[in-house]
Amino acid sequence: MNLIFLGPPGAGKGTQARLLQARRGIPQVSTGDILREAIARETELGRKAREYVERGDLVPDEVMVGIIVERLAKPDTQEGFILDGFPRTVAQAQALEELLASLGRRITAVIYFDLPEEKIVQRLSGRLICARCGAIYHVDHHPPRKPETCDLCGGPLYRRSDDLPEVVRKRLQVYREETEPLVAFYRKRELLHVLDASQGVEALYQSILRIAGASSGNEEGEAEARADR
Ligand code: AMP
Repeated sequence: MNLIFLGPPGAGKGTQARLLQARRGIPQVSTGDILREAIARETELGRKAREYVERGDLVPDEVMVGIIVERLAKPDTQEGFILDGFPRTVAQAQALEELLASLGRRITAVIYFDLPEEKIVQRLSGRLICARCGAIYHVDHHPPRKPETCDLCGGPLYRRSDDLPEVVRKRLQVYREETEPLVAFYRKRELLHVLDASQGVEALYQSILRIAGASSGNEEGEAEARADR
């Protein structure tokens, strides 16, 4: 099961990827998490990426493709992976296509998390992340049982610095300009499945499982999403 999770920031890609990893053992490859960890550890990658991430800009394609080449060479991704936050540009998508072809592998499905802009802003402005295990919460929609404390591991919760309103505006602009063209890219390849990302976590998870279990090349999710609107 080789999946790509595509969609705006805050649409629930990370939450769903973490669920699939926990329940099905498919590794989540989150380029945002990889970069944040590198920045926190002040590695060479972290030093290269910091200013882009803080501004809400994209880290250059060659850096990102390098990360993915390295990550997909690791044995845990041989049975499947979930790309969460990659590709984010057409150049990255093309590089991924070449990489997978050279490995004799292919994408099973691209799942597009469709969410209106006002909901994105609402979700990001209340998002809380566990500093220890990465679990994702929301102050109103999914609050932790104990304030500022992770239900799962007891770690402290924090707000991502790029979830501040001025950076969110920039991230959304970058998303529209650089990443949204991937919808057409993957639709052309008959890999795209559009899901209504405003449904609940569990309902969305079940829709993803249905798609991932189905053969590639249909857009049944698209009809579902339209019907839900
Ligand atoms: P995310 O956690 O996916 O929202 O990513 C956080 C930030 O990391 C983004 O705003 C970008 O600055 C950077 N980033 C993550 N993935 C990529 C990517 N595939 N290409 C370029 N920059 C990325």
